[in-house]
Amino acid sequence: MYTIGIDIGSTTSKCVILRDGREIVGQALYVGGIGTQSPGRSVADTLAQAGLREEDLAASAATGYGRNRWEGADFQLSELSCHALGAHWVFPGVRTIIDIGGQDAKVISLNEAGRMQNFLMNDKCAAGTGRFLDVMATVLQTPVSRFGDLAAQAKTHAPISSTCTVFAESEVISQLANGVELPDLVAGICDSVAARVAAQAKRLGVTPRVCMSGGVAYNSGVRTALEKELGAEIAVSPLAQYLGAVGAALYAWEQKQKTVS
Ligand code: ADP
Repeated sequence: MYTIGIDIGSTTSKCVILRDGREIVGQALYVGGIGTQSPGRSVADTLAQAGLREEDLAASAATGYGRNRWEGADFQLSELSCHALGAHWVFPGVRTIIDIGGQDAKVISLNEAGRMQNFLMNDKCAAGTGRFLDVMATVLQTPVSRFGDLAAQAKTHAPISSTCTVFAESEVISQLANGVELPDLVAGICDSVAARVAAQAKRLGVTPRVCMSGGVAYNSGVRTALEKELGAEIAVSPLAQYLGAVGAALYAWEQKQKTVS
């Protein structure tokens, strides 16, 4: 049985097809979320990769910021539940998820069965989210995908004192003008995001095993700084950005199983 999960985020659309809730047979990601062609493209690509047509799918589930705009999904559910399902599928035994996306950051605690127990979300302020990193990447004319390697080369971490993204942007511009090295600046920027998210995580409580989900999980500068702040190892899967879509496809599979049995 094939089920599809689509995660329509604020900045990217991710799609996954699962066979029998066990194996990924197709996955695709397009930059662009709600109101763009990316959700449709990611579904079409995923189907093509799996060698399937829409009528081969037993059920579909949509999650993410734009889930209510995706007509035709059999189920719609929150990113929180989907990230919990997806993270538990990849890392059985995970108890804390730190999900940093394009516009928000969530810390989710799971019970032993892998179900969401509690969460804390920051969707009010760009600091501590992918948006902060994306703004700095534009200022530095350096893609965020290089931030991890650059931060690892830092000799000293240039501290960013402003928490506000707009003021921090001016601070980075003046540090650049003063000749601060790019790796040192990038390390300071990653530290700033990690400090914000670590405070959020500590408010909720951090139980190991900890993992990261969302696109910022690929930024090892932020991950390493978070590990230091929390004093805990953080697991990251190559599927980190897809975990919401994986969770949605799993949910669709679970629901379908109930109707079959
Ligand atoms: P959303 O679901 O809100 O659209 P995502 O979980 O897809 O967000 O994450 C998007 C963020 O991930 C971007 O803002 C960007 O900063 C970060 N990101 C994406 N790919 C990479 C990468 N290869 N390396 C570092 N950061 C990345």
